[in-house]
Amino acid sequence: MIFLMKGRLVTVADDVVQVISRYITGSEADREAGGILLGSYRGPHIEVVRCTAPMPEDRRTRFGFVRRDKGHQRAAEREWAESAGAISFVGEWHTHPERHPTPSWIDRRSWRKQMGKHAPHPMVFLIAGSVTTYCEIGSDGRLTAMAKVG
Ligand SMILES: [Zn+2]
Repeated sequence: MIFLMKGRLVTVADDVVQVISRYITGSEADREAGGILLGSYRGPHIEVVRCTAPMPEDRRTRFGFVRRDKGHQRAAEREWAESAGAISFVGEWHTHPERHPTPSWIDRRSWRKQMGKHAPHPMVFLIAGSVTTYCEIGSDGRLTAMAKVG
């Protein structure tokens, strides 16, 4: 999956798309799911190569996902160490029970907070719906929607 905004690309590896897609169909789609995105910064671009999936301590409801399990952070630390710093925490994903998802004000509030903690590095925020996936990039204190180009 590839997203573009003003010459800036976010590529999402097929493995990641596959993991996320498990949570937008069947009984898993009854509650929101989410996790973190792991990848690399390549100049202005971001390459997402791995992600985490919901863990036992996370809170999943029909209209909300709260990432609470410490396993996500541990997974990020492990990837970072194993890749000698090449792969790190670059964003997060969650699902919405709708065909074409758009962020809620709670999503935007949470993304702004995450982006602030992560500055000066940009962050990717994905919302997977049952038909389309929505992507925003948070960079320089600003959230911007990206266009899906592949
Ligand atoms: Zn949401």
